[in-house]
Amino acid sequence: MTADRPPESILITGAAGFIGSALTRRIADAWPQTRLLLLDNLSYAGHLANLGDLTQRPTVRFVEGDIVDEACVTGLMRDVAVCVNVAAQTHVDRSISGPQAFTRTNVLGTQTLLEAARQAKIDKFIQISTDEVYGSLPLEAEGVRFDEASPIDPSSPYAASKAAADLLALSYWKTWGFPVCITRCSNNYGPRQFPEKLIPLFILNAMAGRPVPVYGDGLNVRDWIHVEDHASAVMRVILAGQSGRVYNVGADNEQPNLAITRRILALLNQPESLMMFVADRPGHDRRYAIESGRIREELGWRPRVSFEEGLRQTVDWYRENSAWLQAVTADAAAR
Ligand code: NAD
Repeated sequence: MTADRPPESILITGAAGFIGSALTRRIADAWPQTRLLLLDNLSYAGHLANLGDLTQRPTVRFVEGDIVDEACVTGLMRDVAVCVNVAAQTHVDRSISGPQAFTRTNVLGTQTLLEAARQAKIDKFIQISTDEVYGSLPLEAEGVRFDEASPIDPSSPYAASKAAADLLALSYWKTWGFPVCITRCSNNYGPRQFPEKLIPLFILNAMAGRPVPVYGDGLNVRDWIHVEDHASAVMRVILAGQSGRVYNVGADNEQPNLAITRRILALLNQPESLMMFVADRPGHDRRYAIESGRIREELGWRPRVSFEEGLRQTVDWYRENSAWLQAVTADAAAR
Protein backbone atom coordinates (compact mmCIF):
# COMPACT_ATOMS: atom_id res chain seq x y z
CA MET A 1 0.00 0.00 0.00
CA THR A 2 1.44 3.41 -0.91
CA ALA A 3 0.45 6.68 0.76
CA ASP A 4 -2.92 8.01 -0.37
CA ARG A 5 -3.70 4.90 -2.47
CA PRO A 6 -6.61 2.85 -1.13
CA PRO A 7 -5.55 -0.58 0.11
CA GLU A 8 -6.38 -3.67 -1.93
CA SER A 9 -8.28 -5.26 0.91
CA ILE A 10 -9.64 -4.29 4.33
CA LEU A 11 -11.08 -6.33 7.18
CA ILE A 12 -13.73 -4.27 8.98
CA THR A 13 -14.90 -5.77 12.25
CA GLY A 14 -18.22 -4.68 13.77
CA ALA A 15 -19.36 -3.87 10.23
CA ALA A 16 -23.03 -4.56 10.98
CA GLY A 17 -23.14 -1.92 13.73
CA PHE A 18 -23.82 1.81 13.53
CA ILE A 19 -20.34 3.16 12.74
CA GLY A 20 -19.06 -0.02 11.06
CA SER A 21 -21.89 0.01 8.52
CA ALA A 22 -21.44 3.74 7.78
CA LEU A 23 -17.71 3.20 7.27
CA THR A 24 -18.29 0.15 5.09
CA ARG A 25 -20.80 2.00 2.90
CA ARG A 26 -18.51 4.99 2.48
CA ILE A 27 -15.46 2.90 1.63
CA ALA A 28 -17.39 0.64 -0.77
CA ASP A 29 -18.64 3.72 -2.64
CA ALA A 30 -15.37 5.69 -2.62
CA TRP A 31 -12.96 2.80 -3.23
CA PRO A 32 -14.84 0.32 -5.43
CA GLN A 33 -11.68 -1.65 -6.22
CA THR A 34 -10.94 -2.43 -2.56
CA ARG A 35 -12.04 -5.88 -1.38
CA LEU A 36 -13.95 -5.65 1.89
CA LEU A 37 -14.11 -8.49 4.36
CA LEU A 38 -16.73 -7.76 7.02
CA LEU A 39 -16.77 -9.55 10.36
CA ASP A 40 -19.52 -9.22 12.95
CA ASN A 41 -21.03 -11.61 15.47
CA LEU A 42 -24.46 -10.02 14.93
CA SER A 43 -24.93 -9.20 18.59
CA TYR A 44 -28.04 -7.28 19.69
CA ALA A 45 -26.44 -4.15 18.15
CA GLY A 46 -25.33 -5.67 14.84
CA HIS A 47 -27.84 -6.09 12.04
CA LEU A 48 -27.49 -7.11 8.41
CA ALA A 49 -30.24 -4.55 7.72
CA ASN A 50 -27.59 -1.89 8.44
CA LEU A 51 -25.57 -3.10 5.47
CA GLY A 52 -28.51 -3.17 3.03
CA ASP A 53 -27.43 -4.56 -0.34
CA LEU A 54 -23.73 -3.88 0.27
CA THR A 55 -23.11 -7.56 0.95
CA GLN A 56 -24.35 -8.35 -2.58
CA ARG A 57 -21.46 -6.46 -4.16
CA PRO A 58 -18.80 -8.73 -5.68
CA THR A 59 -16.02 -7.00 -3.72
CA VAL A 60 -17.75 -7.42 -0.34
CA ARG A 61 -17.88 -10.58 1.80
CA PHE A 62 -19.67 -10.81 5.13
CA VAL A 63 -18.61 -13.34 7.75
CA GLU A 64 -20.61 -13.96 10.91
CA GLY A 65 -18.03 -14.52 13.62
CA ASP A 66 -16.53 -13.32 16.86
CA ILE A 67 -13.36 -11.25 17.20
CA VAL A 68 -12.44 -13.37 20.23
CA ASP A 69 -12.43 -16.50 18.03
CA GLU A 70 -8.74 -16.95 17.28
CA ALA A 71 -9.19 -19.51 14.50
CA CYS A 72 -11.74 -17.31 12.76
CA VAL A 73 -9.72 -14.10 12.86
CA THR A 74 -6.43 -15.84 12.00
CA GLY A 75 -8.03 -17.22 8.85
CA LEU A 76 -9.47 -13.85 7.82
CA MET A 77 -6.32 -11.87 8.57
CA ARG A 78 -4.30 -13.90 6.04
CA ASP A 79 -6.39 -12.37 3.32
CA VAL A 80 -6.21 -8.62 4.03
CA ALA A 81 -3.81 -5.67 3.91
CA VAL A 82 -5.53 -3.53 6.56
CA CYS A 83 -7.74 -4.25 9.58
CA VAL A 84 -10.06 -1.64 11.10
CA ASN A 85 -11.36 -2.85 14.44
CA VAL A 86 -14.74 -1.23 14.91
CA ALA A 87 -16.29 -4.15 16.82
CA ALA A 88 -17.00 -3.53 20.47
CA GLN A 89 -19.52 -3.66 23.22
CA THR A 90 -20.48 0.00 23.25
CA HIS A 91 -23.27 0.96 25.61
CA VAL A 92 -22.01 2.52 28.87
CA ASP A 93 -25.17 1.57 30.83
CA ARG A 94 -24.74 -2.08 29.81
CA SER A 95 -21.11 -1.94 30.96
CA ILE A 96 -22.35 -0.93 34.41
CA SER A 97 -24.91 -3.74 34.63
CA GLY A 98 -22.62 -6.37 33.03
CA PRO A 99 -18.96 -5.40 32.62
CA GLN A 100 -17.64 -8.86 31.76
CA ALA A 101 -18.85 -8.81 28.16
CA PHE A 102 -16.95 -5.54 27.71
CA THR A 103 -13.66 -7.01 28.89
CA ARG A 104 -14.19 -10.06 26.71
CA THR A 105 -14.89 -8.27 23.42
CA ASN A 106 -13.12 -4.95 23.86
CA VAL A 107 -9.94 -6.21 25.53
CA LEU A 108 -9.56 -9.89 24.67
CA GLY A 109 -11.12 -9.44 21.23
CA THR A 110 -8.77 -6.57 20.35
CA GLN A 111 -5.77 -8.55 21.58
CA THR A 112 -6.85 -11.58 19.52
CA LEU A 113 -7.11 -9.41 16.40
CA LEU A 114 -3.80 -7.68 17.06
CA GLU A 115 -1.97 -10.96 17.45
CA ALA A 116 -3.51 -12.47 14.31
CA ALA A 117 -2.71 -9.27 12.41
CA ARG A 118 0.89 -9.24 13.62
CA GLN A 119 1.38 -12.90 12.70
CA ALA A 120 -0.10 -12.24 9.25
CA LYS A 121 2.16 -9.16 8.88
CA ILE A 122 -0.64 -6.95 7.58
CA ASP A 123 0.21 -3.39 6.54
CA LYS A 124 -1.86 -1.47 9.08
CA PHE A 125 -4.16 -2.02 12.05
CA ILE A 126 -6.55 0.75 13.06
CA GLN A 127 -8.14 0.60 16.49
CA ILE A 128 -11.37 2.59 16.71
CA SER A 129 -11.37 4.11 20.16
CA THR A 130 -13.26 6.85 21.94
CA ASP A 131 -12.72 10.18 23.68
CA GLU A 132 -14.21 8.50 26.77
CA VAL A 133 -10.76 7.03 27.55
CA TYR A 134 -9.67 10.49 28.73
CA GLY A 135 -12.37 10.65 31.39
CA SER A 136 -14.31 13.68 32.47
CA LEU A 137 -13.69 17.43 32.42
CA PRO A 138 -15.44 19.79 34.85
CA LEU A 139 -18.11 22.05 33.35
CA GLU A 140 -16.27 25.05 34.80
CA ALA A 141 -13.09 24.29 32.81
CA GLU A 142 -14.54 25.96 29.72
CA GLY A 143 -12.07 26.00 26.84
CA VAL A 144 -9.98 23.15 28.32
CA ARG A 145 -9.98 20.11 26.02
CA PHE A 146 -8.16 16.79 25.86
CA ASP A 147 -5.49 16.31 23.24
CA GLU A 148 -3.65 13.11 22.35
CA ALA A 149 -1.03 13.74 25.05
CA SER A 150 -3.64 13.95 27.82
CA PRO A 151 -3.46 11.07 30.30
CA ILE A 152 -6.10 8.40 30.00
CA ASP A 153 -8.42 8.29 33.01
CA PRO A 154 -11.53 6.29 32.09
CA SER A 155 -14.58 6.24 34.36
CA SER A 156 -16.95 3.49 33.17
CA PRO A 157 -16.13 -0.19 32.57
CA TYR A 158 -16.81 0.57 28.88
CA ALA A 159 -14.25 3.37 28.77
CA ALA A 160 -11.77 1.32 30.83
CA SER A 161 -12.03 -1.61 28.40
CA LYS A 162 -11.46 0.74 25.45
CA ALA A 163 -8.46 2.30 27.21
CA ALA A 164 -7.02 -1.18 27.82
CA ALA A 165 -7.45 -1.99 24.14
CA ASP A 166 -5.65 1.25 23.18
CA LEU A 167 -2.74 0.34 25.44
CA LEU A 168 -2.54 -3.14 23.95
CA ALA A 169 -2.54 -1.70 20.44
CA LEU A 170 0.23 0.76 21.33
CA SER A 171 2.22 -2.05 22.96
CA TYR A 172 2.23 -3.90 19.62
CA TRP A 173 3.82 -0.82 18.03
CA LYS A 174 6.34 -0.29 20.82
CA THR A 175 7.29 -3.96 21.21
CA TRP A 176 7.28 -5.24 17.63
CA GLY A 177 7.01 -2.12 15.51
CA PHE A 178 3.68 -3.50 14.33
CA PRO A 179 1.92 -0.64 12.49
CA VAL A 180 -1.09 0.45 14.53
CA CYS A 181 -3.03 3.72 14.57
CA ILE A 182 -5.70 4.67 17.08
CA THR A 183 -8.61 7.03 16.49
CA ARG A 184 -10.40 8.54 19.49
CA CYS A 185 -13.65 10.01 18.33
CA SER A 186 -16.27 11.96 20.21
CA ASN A 187 -20.00 11.05 20.40
CA ASN A 188 -21.45 10.00 17.05
CA TYR A 189 -24.99 10.48 15.77
CA GLY A 190 -26.69 9.70 12.48
CA PRO A 191 -28.79 7.03 10.77
CA ARG A 192 -28.84 3.38 11.93
CA GLN A 193 -27.74 3.94 15.52
CA PHE A 194 -29.27 1.32 17.79
CA PRO A 195 -32.13 2.97 19.71
CA GLU A 196 -30.62 2.56 23.16
CA LYS A 197 -28.29 5.54 22.61
CA LEU A 198 -29.41 9.06 23.52
CA ILE A 199 -30.21 10.62 20.15
CA PRO A 200 -32.15 7.74 18.51
CA LEU A 201 -33.86 6.87 21.81
CA PHE A 202 -35.05 10.43 22.27
CA ILE A 203 -36.13 10.77 18.64
CA LEU A 204 -38.14 7.55 18.73
CA ASN A 205 -39.70 8.28 22.13
CA ALA A 206 -40.62 11.80 21.07
CA MET A 207 -42.07 10.52 17.77
CA ALA A 208 -44.33 8.20 19.77
CA GLY A 209 -45.22 10.93 22.29
CA ARG A 210 -43.45 9.01 25.07
CA PRO A 211 -41.32 10.71 27.80
CA VAL A 212 -37.61 11.19 27.06
CA PRO A 213 -35.49 10.15 30.08
CA VAL A 214 -32.84 12.80 30.81
CA TYR A 215 -30.11 11.72 33.26
CA GLY A 216 -29.51 13.89 36.36
CA ASP A 217 -29.75 17.62 35.72
CA GLY A 218 -29.24 17.19 31.95
CA LEU A 219 -26.19 19.46 31.96
CA ASN A 220 -23.64 16.77 30.99
CA VAL A 221 -21.81 17.90 27.89
CA ARG A 222 -20.84 15.78 24.89
CA ASP A 223 -18.99 16.78 21.72
CA TRP A 224 -21.23 15.52 18.87
CA ILE A 225 -20.02 14.48 15.43
CA HIS A 226 -21.93 13.03 12.49
CA VAL A 227 -21.08 9.40 11.76
CA GLU A 228 -20.18 10.29 8.14
CA ASP A 229 -17.51 12.67 9.43
CA HIS A 230 -16.14 9.93 11.68
CA ALA A 231 -16.05 7.56 8.70
CA SER A 232 -14.18 10.08 6.55
CA ALA A 233 -11.64 10.56 9.35
CA VAL A 234 -11.00 6.81 9.56
CA MET A 235 -10.49 6.74 5.79
CA ARG A 236 -7.84 9.46 6.07
CA VAL A 237 -6.10 7.39 8.74
CA ILE A 238 -6.25 4.29 6.52
CA LEU A 239 -4.57 6.26 3.74
CA ALA A 240 -2.07 8.38 5.61
CA GLY A 241 -2.09 7.70 9.37
CA GLN A 242 1.36 7.34 10.91
CA SER A 243 2.13 4.16 12.78
CA GLY A 244 2.07 4.36 16.56
CA ARG A 245 0.01 7.53 16.44
CA VAL A 246 -3.25 8.45 18.17
CA TYR A 247 -5.68 10.77 16.35
CA ASN A 248 -8.49 12.56 18.17
CA VAL A 249 -11.55 13.02 15.96
CA GLY A 250 -14.02 15.72 16.99
CA ALA A 251 -16.25 18.37 15.48
CA ASP A 252 -15.86 21.16 18.09
CA ASN A 253 -19.54 20.80 18.85
CA GLU A 254 -20.05 20.66 22.61
CA GLN A 255 -23.70 20.43 23.62
CA PRO A 256 -25.38 19.82 26.98
CA ASN A 257 -27.83 16.90 26.88
CA LEU A 258 -30.63 19.30 27.72
CA ALA A 259 -29.96 21.37 24.58
CA ILE A 260 -29.99 18.22 22.41
CA THR A 261 -33.25 17.11 24.01
CA ARG A 262 -34.88 20.49 23.38
CA ARG A 263 -33.74 20.51 19.74
CA ILE A 264 -35.14 17.01 19.13
CA LEU A 265 -38.46 17.88 20.72
CA ALA A 266 -38.65 21.09 18.66
CA LEU A 267 -37.83 19.26 15.41
CA LEU A 268 -40.66 16.85 16.14
CA ASN A 269 -43.08 19.55 17.32
CA GLN A 270 -43.36 17.93 20.72
CA PRO A 271 -43.73 19.80 24.04
CA GLU A 272 -40.88 20.12 26.55
CA SER A 273 -43.19 18.49 29.10
CA LEU A 274 -42.05 15.16 27.56
CA MET A 275 -38.69 15.64 29.30
CA MET A 276 -38.48 13.31 32.29
CA PHE A 277 -35.50 13.77 34.63
CA VAL A 278 -34.31 10.37 35.91
CA ALA A 279 -31.67 9.22 38.43
CA ASP A 280 -28.18 9.94 37.11
CA ARG A 281 -25.94 7.20 35.71
CA PRO A 282 -23.33 6.12 38.32
CA GLY A 283 -19.94 7.68 37.55
CA HIS A 284 -21.52 9.80 34.80
CA ASP A 285 -18.77 11.84 33.14
CA ARG A 286 -19.66 15.52 33.27
CA ARG A 287 -18.06 16.83 30.12
CA TYR A 288 -16.15 15.47 27.13
CA ALA A 289 -14.23 17.80 24.87
CA ILE A 290 -11.36 16.98 22.56
CA GLU A 291 -8.93 18.92 20.50
CA SER A 292 -8.52 17.34 17.06
CA GLY A 293 -5.89 19.58 15.49
CA ARG A 294 -3.54 16.67 14.77
CA ILE A 295 -5.77 14.87 12.26
CA ARG A 296 -6.76 18.19 10.70
CA GLU A 297 -3.20 19.44 10.28
CA GLU A 298 -1.35 16.20 9.55
CA LEU A 299 -3.97 14.39 7.48
CA GLY A 300 -6.03 17.29 6.11
CA TRP A 301 -9.32 16.00 7.54
CA ARG A 302 -12.26 18.30 8.33
CA PRO A 303 -15.76 17.54 9.58
CA ARG A 304 -18.31 18.56 6.93
CA VAL A 305 -21.75 18.06 8.47
CA SER A 306 -23.16 20.93 10.52
CA PHE A 307 -24.92 19.79 13.68
CA GLU A 308 -28.12 21.61 12.83
CA GLU A 309 -28.37 19.99 9.41
CA GLY A 310 -27.09 16.58 10.57
CA LEU A 311 -29.59 16.38 13.42
CA ARG A 312 -32.46 17.42 11.16
CA GLN A 313 -31.50 14.76 8.61
CA THR A 314 -31.16 12.17 11.37
CA VAL A 315 -34.63 12.95 12.71
CA ASP A 316 -35.99 12.67 9.14
CA TRP A 317 -34.18 9.36 8.64
CA TYR A 318 -35.80 7.81 11.73
CA ARG A 319 -39.19 9.17 10.66
CA GLU A 320 -38.85 7.61 7.22
CA ASN A 321 -37.37 4.26 8.22
CA SER A 322 -39.86 2.54 10.47
CA ALA A 323 -39.18 -0.74 8.61
CA TRP A 324 -35.54 -0.56 9.75
CA LEU A 325 -36.64 0.01 13.33
CA GLN A 326 -38.99 -2.95 13.23
CA ALA A 327 -36.29 -5.17 11.72
CA VAL A 328 -33.59 -4.31 14.28
CA THR A 329 -35.84 -4.40 17.32
CA ALA A 330 -37.34 -7.76 16.29
CA ASP A 331 -33.84 -9.04 15.52
CA ALA A 332 -32.47 -7.88 18.90
CA ALA A 333 -35.45 -9.34 20.81
CA ALA A 334 -34.92 -12.72 19.13
CA ARG A 335 -31.35 -12.97 20.49
P1 NAD B 1 -22.46 -0.59 17.83
O1 NAD B 1 -22.80 -1.21 19.15
O2 NAD B 1 -23.54 -0.01 16.99
O3 NAD B 1 -21.68 -1.63 16.91
C1 NAD B 1 -20.75 -2.56 17.41
C2 NAD B 1 -20.71 -3.72 16.46
O4 NAD B 1 -19.74 -4.67 16.95
C3 NAD B 1 -22.05 -4.46 16.37
O5 NAD B 1 -22.37 -4.72 15.03
C4 NAD B 1 -21.79 -5.74 17.12
O6 NAD B 1 -22.59 -6.84 16.67
C5 NAD B 1 -20.31 -5.97 16.86
N1 NAD B 1 -19.68 -6.80 17.89
C6 NAD B 1 -19.80 -6.70 19.24
N2 NAD B 1 -19.09 -7.66 19.84
C7 NAD B 1 -18.49 -8.39 18.85
C8 NAD B 1 -17.63 -9.51 18.85
N3 NAD B 1 -17.23 -10.08 19.99
N4 NAD B 1 -17.21 -10.00 17.66
C9 NAD B 1 -17.63 -9.44 16.49
N5 NAD B 1 -18.45 -8.37 16.44
C10 NAD B 1 -18.87 -7.84 17.61
O7 NAD B 1 -21.36 0.49 18.20
P2 NAD B 1 -20.88 1.78 17.40
O8 NAD B 1 -21.50 2.96 18.01
O9 NAD B 1 -20.99 1.53 15.94
O10 NAD B 1 -19.34 1.82 17.84
C11 NAD B 1 -18.35 1.21 17.04
C12 NAD B 1 -16.98 1.54 17.59
O11 NAD B 1 -16.80 2.94 17.66
C13 NAD B 1 -16.73 1.02 18.99
O12 NAD B 1 -15.43 0.53 19.05
C14 NAD B 1 -16.89 2.23 19.87
O13 NAD B 1 -16.12 2.11 21.02
C15 NAD B 1 -16.38 3.31 18.95
N6 NAD B 1 -16.92 4.65 19.20
C16 NAD B 1 -18.27 4.86 19.21
C17 NAD B 1 -18.74 6.14 19.41
C18 NAD B 1 -20.22 6.44 19.40
O14 NAD B 1 -20.61 7.55 19.74
N7 NAD B 1 -21.08 5.51 19.00
C19 NAD B 1 -17.86 7.21 19.62
C20 NAD B 1 -16.48 6.94 19.60
C21 NAD B 1 -16.03 5.67 19.39
